[in-house]
Amino acid sequence: MNNSARFISSPVITDFSAQQYASLQFAGDDEITRIQTGLFLNHLNYTFENSVFYQNLFRQNRVDLKKIKTLSDIRDLPLTDKEHLFSARDFLCVDDREIVDVSLTSATSGSVPTMISLTSNDLSRLAYNEEIAFAMAGINDEDTLLICAALDRCFMAGIAYFLGGVKLKARILRSGSGSASSHWELIKLAGATVIVGVPSLMAKIGQYATDNNEQPQKAGIKKLIAIGEPTKDKDLNLLPIADELETMWDAKIYSTYASSEIATTFCECSARKGGHLRPELNITEILDDRGNPLKDGEQGEVVVTPLGVTGMPLIRFRTGDISYLINEKCSCGRTTKRIAPIIGRKNQMLKYKGTTVFPNAILGCLEGDKRFYNGFVEVKRYHDGTDRIILNIALGSEDQDISPDINWIRDVLRAKVRVVPEIRIIDGQTADKKVYQFDKKRKRMNFFDLR
Ligand SMILES: [Zn+2]
Repeated sequence: MNNSARFISSPVITDFSAQQYASLQFAGDDEITRIQTGLFLNHLNYTFENSVFYQNLFRQNRVDLKKIKTLSDIRDLPLTDKEHLFSARDFLCVDDREIVDVSLTSATSGSVPTMISLTSNDLSRLAYNEEIAFAMAGINDEDTLLICAALDRCFMAGIAYFLGGVKLKARILRSGSGSASSHWELIKLAGATVIVGVPSLMAKIGQYATDNNEQPQKAGIKKLIAIGEPTKDKDLNLLPIADELETMWDAKIYSTYASSEIATTFCECSARKGGHLRPELNITEILDDRGNPLKDGEQGEVVVTPLGVTGMPLIRFRTGDISYLINEKCSCGRTTKRIAPIIGRKNQMLKYKGTTVFPNAILGCLEGDKRFYNGFVEVKRYHDGTDRIILNIALGSEDQDISPDINWIRDVLRAKVRVVPEIRIIDGQTADKKVYQFDKKRKRMNFFDLR
């Protein structure tokens, strides 16, 4: 297919240099709005001129682009779902010759992955995005990064970390999806100072070292950049697993939030109180069930318009993640709003006794506690539309007597998630079998939706 006839380029960001937008992180609201409005309108024009998908979507929704003049006018534009991306070709804004990388999204909700086509400009944008994210966490050219994320199999994240690290002039160990032992040996061999990876893997590496009579806390790791799994509850407190990791490695843990579709990372700064928004790279909205905007502090779905993408630009992409925005002065001095930890997935929201709760919040406040071994949440629906939540839990070795005390579980749940579901004690083997049944190697399934 030759798309060149409709490839008319409106100006988008092509110079991704840290210096260009460095001051924007500390700018006043008016300056941020001014810069972001220009980038937004360019993005909109470029996308409309080149994307068959958006031409059709805007026509169907009778969007008059001439009326879109300010950032708040974004609310007049239709939303884009993950399902739309199955017609990925219609999103392409460039000729095939301009595409240099094809990434696949991870299939989070049982669906098949979708393709994201990137131009060399998009790769530069990814590098810039990650360079600033690392810098925000205080990483610099004196650091050695152990990247424990797949750099192959068309994953976008690993390549983004690598390119960002290169741009930052850090020293990089492409450890990829190696085993706990190989990561540990590399940490010792090359003197890593930062681990980039999922928290459960960081725990496995540390455990491997401890099991082999070595001391992860003396390995020289200063920072843990947590990807893919939560490390904080909705009130920004560290989850037990994150607490344990900080002690295990004698290092500070930083949360990040990202997805392949939005092609932007929100990383925490030195204050570690939520990830700073990136006005030059995206517009982030929080919407309620009906698609109405919510105020700062109110929980809803994260909807992102990534700016400056040239291969497959998106407008108002629904991430399916639930969070809220924080608009308070940050002690790091940056003026940009922050995004709170992801509280859960929209399609996993449970209704229980007049409140809402997410399965990962239930398990998150137990994981890392020595009395907890493994577990999963099942949910069924009563006829009245409310949910029956059953927490199946296997206890840690010291608590495995015949009539285990489960009051501590109730206390933890009541304090942390304000919800106490049915609790069923199971043995460790049964828990492992259920949790790892889908993918014995890496991925755990802790939530079973039987509604
Ligand atoms: Zn900050």
